Amino acid sequence: MEEEFFELERKWLIPFYDRFPIAITKGKYHYVFDTENKKYLDFTSGIGVVNFGHSNPAITKEVCRQLKRISHISNLYYNPLQWNVASLISQKSFKSKVFFCNSGAESNEAAIKVARWYGNSIRKGKNRIISLINSFHGRTMGAISITGQEKYRIGFEPLLENISFVNPQNPEELESKFDEDVCAIFLEAVQGEGGVYKLPYEFVKRARELCDRYNALMIFDEVQAGIGRTGKYFGYQNFDIIPDAITLAKALGNGIPIGALVLRNDVAENLPKGFHASTFGGNFVACSAAIKVLKLLDEKLLEKIRWLSKLFESYSKDLKDSFSDKIEEIRIYGLMIGIDFKEEINVRKIIDSLILKGILTLRAGKNVLRLLPPFTIGEKEIQYFYDSLKETLKNY
Ligand SMILES: *Cc1c(COP(=O)(O)O)cnc(C)c1O
Repeated sequence: MEEEFFELERKWLIPFYDRFPIAITKGKYHYVFDTENKKYLDFTSGIGVVNFGHSNPAITKEVCRQLKRISHISNLYYNPLQWNVASLISQKSFKSKVFFCNSGAESNEAAIKVARWYGNSIRKGKNRIISLINSFHGRTMGAISITGQEKYRIGFEPLLENISFVNPQNPEELESKFDEDVCAIFLEAVQGEGGVYKLPYEFVKRARELCDRYNALMIFDEVQAGIGRTGKYFGYQNFDIIPDAITLAKALGNGIPIGALVLRNDVAENLPKGFHASTFGGNFVACSAAIKVLKLLDEKLLEKIRWLSKLFESYSKDLKDSFSDKIEEIRIYGLMIGIDFKEEINVRKIIDSLILKGILTLRAGKNVLRLLPPFTIGEKEIQYFYDSLKETLKNY
């Protein structure tokens, strides 16, 4: 079976992906099943997408209903579902207006265009964007231009000009690189791909002050940390500030592709018609999924996420105590979990071994095992994960 997949993959697909040798065919909440009907506990949520579980019945029902009615008509006509999604986002965040697209990279592209336009319309030359070392914002040319990791950028030059990268551990550096020419700063509340690092509270506070002082936009990339992932509706809500914009995608449609740029009211109001567009953006099917997602995302669910997070904390403490020779640090923010291994441990091997035990996990940063479990899990699944990881580490 494995050989056959390998051959078909090589014959038909551009070889961009280094895949694990399983093919998933169906899923239910936090479990998925492969072609041989082997069951896996999914601690990836399809990389932070299926937060409400695979084939979530409430979301599936809405999407099926909408598919039978109409799926797409273009953005040439009014679409009441878009108003509905936008108002639900606004209720849970800040007074805003929304533009819909289809992915995380696209939502950041829209934000980059807004940032440049905003700066240029204040003064010629106000077009510098600040981003963070170790950040990740997607794979399009604009998005890699503001991504602070060499490996995503190298070979694609020339990229967008006038981007500065700052170390989030260093608010002094931020202050020294900030001036009148800055039009925006991009931040992730918790850097996901970068290795599960939460931004220091003081750094975010300082960034807000500097944005106010120099009239620059504070843009939070909430593609991974948003939609409940950190135990708040949006990641920025961990910092007692209000950003000027957030970008969303991943979990917004629980697997139906949809992205969004959410922009402060007064900035949005000044943007001209024809500024930006997307053919698929916010189509009926995508919006029907997002409406259900945003209705399921309530205070009660956030409480459950924070309770699950506490369980991860206590199991992790025990794990770290037992394997302090192999584990450097464990970082837990809501249901974004990074188990940072010492250099001599190969995380890929750990992931392979967990797959054999029927658990799907992710890697991130340098040597981090990253977990993004669906919100549907319970203590039983957490316990099973830690038992399996302990066994793997014992035999490593
Ligand atoms: C995944 C991710 C993106 C890119 O999203 P795509 O839908 O793959 O384009 C952007 N920003 C962050 C923080 C992400 O985690």
